[in-house]
Amino acid sequence: MSDYRVLLYYKYAKIDNPERFRLEHLELCRRLNLKGRILVSEEGLNGTVSGTTEETERYMEAVHSDERFADMMFKIDEADGHAFKKMHVRYRPEIVSLKLGEDDLDPNELSGQYLKPVEFREALEDENTIVLDARNDYEYDLGHFRGAIRPDIRNFRELPEWIKENKEKFMDKKVVTYCTGGVRCEKLTGWLLKEGFEDVAQLHGGIHNYGTDPETQGELWDGKMYVFDERISVDVNRKEKTIVGKDWYDGTPCERYVNCGNPSCNRQFITSEENEHTYLRGCTHECRVSPENRYVKEHQLSREEVAQRLEAIGESLPETV
Ligand SMILES: [Zn+2]
Repeated sequence: MSDYRVLLYYKYAKIDNPERFRLEHLELCRRLNLKGRILVSEEGLNGTVSGTTEETERYMEAVHSDERFADMMFKIDEADGHAFKKMHVRYRPEIVSLKLGEDDLDPNELSGQYLKPVEFREALEDENTIVLDARNDYEYDLGHFRGAIRPDIRNFRELPEWIKENKEKFMDKKVVTYCTGGVRCEKLTGWLLKEGFEDVAQLHGGIHNYGTDPETQGELWDGKMYVFDERISVDVNRKEKTIVGKDWYDGTPCERYVNCGNPSCNRQFITSEENEHTYLRGCTHECRVSPENRYVKEHQLSREEVAQRLEAIGESLPETV
C-alpha cells in the first residue's frame, strides 16, 4: 500500500484577489504538510501537490468547499513519498504560459468539445481526425499517443505560431488535442476555434485520465508520460509497455532524462549514464566545451581530462589565445 499521493488539477475560475488567495492557499498547504507547485492567477488555479493519503484527502475537501472550485477534477496517483522538495504557491498572469496576448480567452466561454477517454480512442483510430500533441517537444519524445502529430517546436507557447504556418494541413479535418492533465488544451482549443477551425476537441482530463480510465487503460499510448515533479516520468499504458525514448547521442532506446551541462542552454534530453560521461552532458559541441559546463565542474575535470574525453569522440577544445 502506498501512503502518499500526487494530485494534479486545474480550474479556470475567476479569482478577484489572487495575492490574498495565494497567501491563504499557501497557509492551507503548509498546514497539511503538502509539497508541490501551484500557480494562481486572476483566471484560475493550476497545481500539482504531494502528501499523505489523509492530508491530500483533506486538501481536496478544502478546495471543493470553495464554490468556485466545487467541481474541481483531481487526478490522483499513488506514490511512495513526496514528489517535490518544497511547497510553492506562485502568482502568474496565466495558469499556463501560452502568451496569446490580445487573442487571450476564457476557456469557460470558448473551448473545444470534451472527449471522454473512450471517445478519444475512437478519434485516434479515425483517419479523418488529426491528433495533435499540445506539449513541449521533450515531453513528446519520451512518450505519446500512437500516430499523434509532433509539432516542430521546443516549447508549448510556440504552438499557435506553428499551427498558423501549417494550417492548410488540417483545416478541413477534425482536430483533437491532448496534454498531461488538460489545462493546456482548454486554451489551445479555444484559440483554434477563434482561428476558424470548426471541428475541435480535447481529451478531457488529459493523458492522466486516459491512463487511469478502466476502459481504455492507456491503450495506444507508447512510452512514458513526462511529469513536472521528481518522478520525471510515469506509466500510462497498462495493457502493453513500449519504449519510444531515444538516446540523444546514439538513438538507442532510453528513458533517462538529463539537463544539458551548459547552464545557458539547459536543454532537457534523453541519454544513458554512459553517454552522459562520454559527451560531458553537453547537447552540442558548443555546450560540451562551454566554460560553464556543470558536468565538468561537478566532476572536477582538468582541462587535460576534458581534452581527452573530447578526443575520444573526435572533438577538441577551442584554441585559447
Ligand atoms: Zn546544450
